[in-house]
Amino acid sequence: MPLHHITECIARISAVEREKRTWIRTWPTYCTACGARGGDWSLDKEEVQEDEGRAFDPCGFCVGSNKCPRCSLFVEGLKETEKRDIRCPHCHWRWGCNPGDVLPELPVCICPDPVEIAKRLLDEHLSLFQEVLVFVEQRAVPGDELVNRMRKGREVYQHAADERLSEL
Ligand SMILES: [Zn+2]
Ligand SMILES: [Zn+2]
Ligand SMILES: [Zn+2]
Repeated sequence: MPLHHITECIARISAVEREKRTWIRTWPTYCTACGARGGDWSLDKEEVQEDEGRAFDPCGFCVGSNKCPRCSLFVEGLKETEKRDIRCPHCHWRWGCNPGDVLPELPVCICPDPVEIAKRLLDEHLSLFQEVLVFVEQRAVPGDELVNRMRKGREVYQHAADERLSEL
């Protein structure tokens, strides 16, 4: 992921960050181990139980102690898998990573690949440099002056490339 995100990406990320702050203010005692998801819903884990077609590994910090992942109050029978349709009687949290029930997750970065940008910039710069060479040849610019201009050009391009790369 690039160090600096493009404007559109920043807007998406900061919107969810705001949402996240509000959510945490509303549910300050949520389980930070699982983000109030109640466990790990990843499909690659080996020791998992099937729950509505999704592989599931319950969180030992909340569900394992019959504590609601969102409000952390006691919920009778929460850790029993056969009662997976159970709801928290205090905050109405329910199973399934439903929006609002779980800590909002940051969106996936949509920034273009910095290596691709660098390649494109290099191509652009090379073709510009080619044009400069053709120009000075046609004008029969004397040797010293040509070298000076090329040095100057290199500085300008270097500066531009440094600036663009620092934005990535
Ligand atoms: Zn938990
Ligand atoms: Zn609850
Ligand atoms: Zn990004």
